[in-house]
Amino acid sequence: MYDLVIVGGGPSGSAAGRVAGKAGLKTLLIEKEDFPRYKPCGGALSDHAINYLDFDIPGEIIEKEIYGCRICFHDQAIESFKDYRISVLVTRSKLDNFLLENAKETGIEVHLNEKVTSISNGNDHVIVCTNRSVYEARFVIIATGSQDSLKNTVRRKDNKKEYGICIVTEVEEDKEVINEYIRNGVELRFGVAGRGYGWIFPHDNHYSVGIGGVAGCLPDPKSVIRDFLKENGFMDKYDLKGHVIPCGGYKRNIIDRRILLSGDAAGFVDAFTGEGLAYAIRSGQIAAEVISDIVRSGSGENVEQLKEYERKCYLEFGEHLKYSLTFARIMHNFPGSPFKIFTKEKEIIDQFLEVVAFRSNYKQYLKWILFNFRPGWILKGLS
Ligand SMILES: Cc1cc2nc3c(=O)[nH]c(=O)nc-3n(C[C@H](O)[C@H](O)[C@H](O)COP(=O)(O)OP(=O)(O)OC[C@H]3O[C@@H](n4cnc5c(N)ncnc54)[C@H](O)[C@@H]3O)c2cc1C
Repeated sequence: MYDLVIVGGGPSGSAAGRVAGKAGLKTLLIEKEDFPRYKPCGGALSDHAINYLDFDIPGEIIEKEIYGCRICFHDQAIESFKDYRISVLVTRSKLDNFLLENAKETGIEVHLNEKVTSISNGNDHVIVCTNRSVYEARFVIIATGSQDSLKNTVRRKDNKKEYGICIVTEVEEDKEVINEYIRNGVELRFGVAGRGYGWIFPHDNHYSVGIGGVAGCLPDPKSVIRDFLKENGFMDKYDLKGHVIPCGGYKRNIIDRRILLSGDAAGFVDAFTGEGLAYAIRSGQIAAEVISDIVRSGSGENVEQLKEYERKCYLEFGEHLKYSLTFARIMHNFPGSPFKIFTKEKEIIDQFLEVVAFRSNYKQYLKWILFNFRPGWILKGLS
């Protein structure tokens, strides 16, 4: 009997594994792929996410340091840069492998190449079946990301408004050309993909180029990325990879008796920017912390205490994610396209970057816009 089985060795599962291992829980982490494995991603690891880790990210994993952004809407573009670092750009296969190694070093058991096929709650334990074996655990964290259906043992399936589709590719380029293109920033282009955006992120010797939008508004994502690539002068044939991303805000069931969801499986992604790594890492850590407190309490084990997980996640980032959906809806649904204003007012973008850096949140940002609103913004947007 394990104290904890973690399903999935992505950032959320690894973060949970490290906390559980350090707390001395008898822990098994099961991952279906061999590591390092490819994961479609822009590769922006925010400093907000890095700050959750109790170890440094080595220089060889960091491909670029990001201080700002260029935001475009049709033919309008605006730039904003901060004097502090907002994020770094990484390749996910390397980052995820490094995070898993840091979980392993705490002494937890890790099984790669093993797929969990079902999970069910028993009376006082959970049964985990894989393609190789059956395990019993007092608690299970499902950290399987956005594509696997195991999470639906705890929460209902997302509808087409609640998840997004992303298509991403890598465009090789010389370092010098990349540096000239956008210095230490990332480029986001709105108005190109149904209620989402297209991105160009500068890595070491390639751009990550992608598009993502709400599934119900993106009937043919492959043609959208092909157009996006061409419009930006990327004319070769590229290897396109698709992936699903949660974008339905915050409210979901994330606990079922002894089973918890974390990371993308719990839907913890910013509905406007698509940032998920910070919330994957932190929710995995919180899940393991709460389970460790219960296990350490010994014979008086009270499963009701798992609700602490919900409370702590909401306290730390829940409101931010909830209002990310409100903000996304205002930006994408409001008539007259707020993006015209967004891409003309430097002050608005400067404040937005504070939200991206998690120095402010969406609720404060919306309040700031209301209090500072000037009719001139609308006139500028219309011009
Ligand atoms: C195209 C794209 C671009 C993105 N860009 C960014 C970005 O730039 N910055 C950012 O912060 N976020 C970004 N995100 C979001 C980010 O990738 C996710 O939020 C993050 O990967 C979530 O981590 P996770 O550990 O929850 O899930 P994952 O990283 O998906 O890891 C889940 C793991 O579980 C394993 N697994 C699945 N099913 C099973 C099973 N049945 N048995 C065993 N193992 C299983 C998988 O193999 C995988 O290794 C992007 C997402 C997409 C789709």
